[in-house]
Amino acid sequence: MKHVVILGATGSIGCSTLSVLAAHPDRFRVLALTAATGVDKLFAQCQQFTPRFAAMQDPAAALLLQKKLKDAGSATEVLSGTEGLVALAAHPQADIVMAAIVGAAGLLPTLAAVEQGKTVLLANKEALVMTGELFMQKVAKHGATLLPIDSEHNAIFQCLPLPMQQAGHLTRLSEHGISRLLLTGSGGPFLNRPLDSFAQITVAEAVAHPNWTMGQKISVDSATMMNKGLEFIEARWLFNCAAADIQVVIHPQSIIHSMVQYTDGSVLAQLGQPDMRTPIAHALAFPERISSPVQPLDFFTLQSFTFKQPEAARYPNLYLAMAASAAGQGATTALNAANEVAVAAFLTEKIAFTTISKINEQCLNYFQSYQASSLDDILALDAETRAYARQLLGML
Ligand code: NDP
Ligand code: MG
Repeated sequence: MKHVVILGATGSIGCSTLSVLAAHPDRFRVLALTAATGVDKLFAQCQQFTPRFAAMQDPAAALLLQKKLKDAGSATEVLSGTEGLVALAAHPQADIVMAAIVGAAGLLPTLAAVEQGKTVLLANKEALVMTGELFMQKVAKHGATLLPIDSEHNAIFQCLPLPMQQAGHLTRLSEHGISRLLLTGSGGPFLNRPLDSFAQITVAEAVAHPNWTMGQKISVDSATMMNKGLEFIEARWLFNCAAADIQVVIHPQSIIHSMVQYTDGSVLAQLGQPDMRTPIAHALAFPERISSPVQPLDFFTLQSFTFKQPEAARYPNLYLAMAASAAGQGATTALNAANEVAVAAFLTEKIAFTTISKINEQCLNYFQSYQASSLDDILALDAETRAYARQLLGML
């Protein structure tokens, strides 16, 4: 029996994880569930999965949850704040930690799980983008097992040869006969929208992804393709490769989830429904396979597959992320922080869709040569960039 902690249980990935766990009560036991403020949802999850612990980032929400659980006669113990999340991520009884908090808020609990050598299922790509080398060094030092949940990286992982799956970030692609990783992306809801109407894009349009149902922040990132940019950086760290080893390919149908090209001319792809329960089930059971509640693919009803290059004018954020990746850790930390501030401002209708990349670009230009290697440097740069981005927003 594996004991599972879900950081960000009430989100899109958290709920998909619980859906897979619910189908395998003989293999997995939910040890702890966490959220930020969503008391009612976490309470309902606690009632269904009876975890030993729950935690809320927000102390007032934690008190409310504690009262509701007590009144319902539940034995679940409630913790709060970043300390509470960190304690659960590092809990001695935890075997598997699903890192599914959105954004930089997930960094410290995710690192806490890594430092305890847990099996870490990484959905929270921002944590890796922010800390790259430091994160991977900690994985190696503490003997943690890092399994990608992001569908593209999970697909690439599935297409890698076994020795690379076992020691991926310590070896190089070329040692395994791999010539290139083909990172696919749908292109989001605005793949065919006229560029001159981008300034009028509404929040409702931006979060309506054609193929995937996801949280709001990643949905906007998919519309700007910052998501693919963050994934490009994520892939470089996870698979220890250079920028030239990765090609971004637009595949609007989202059935191929990414591919690995080998030097002998073979291309291995992983295909499936656009449903995160497939990569989640894969990583939960790895190296075994378990069933997931996902509909099987039916090739006679699928649309034709098409492929396209991403246009720079349509997706400036993708190219900013690639530039940041070339510039180094300070640049990627700063870009991630700027983007979180800009996307939050767009979601609250303070800025236009097209302003997101402008804020990101200005922050990247300002901070790209900053050095950030220790965790303290990284957290300070993250805070400084957020302050600068908010200052830019205030001048609009
Ligand atoms: P959601 O917004 O749906 O969920 C976010 C979760 O994190 C919620 O449980 C939320 O709690 C919690 N949370 C938010 N802010 C904080 C905070 N400050 N401190 C602690 N917990 C917090 O996001 P998604 O599930 O869509 O995404 C989660 C991560 O997975 C992201 O990094 C995303 O990029 C990645 N990912 C997501 C995919 C998807 O299909 N959704 C696909 C690939 C990667 P509350 O409900 O209380 O706010
Ligand atoms: Mg993805």
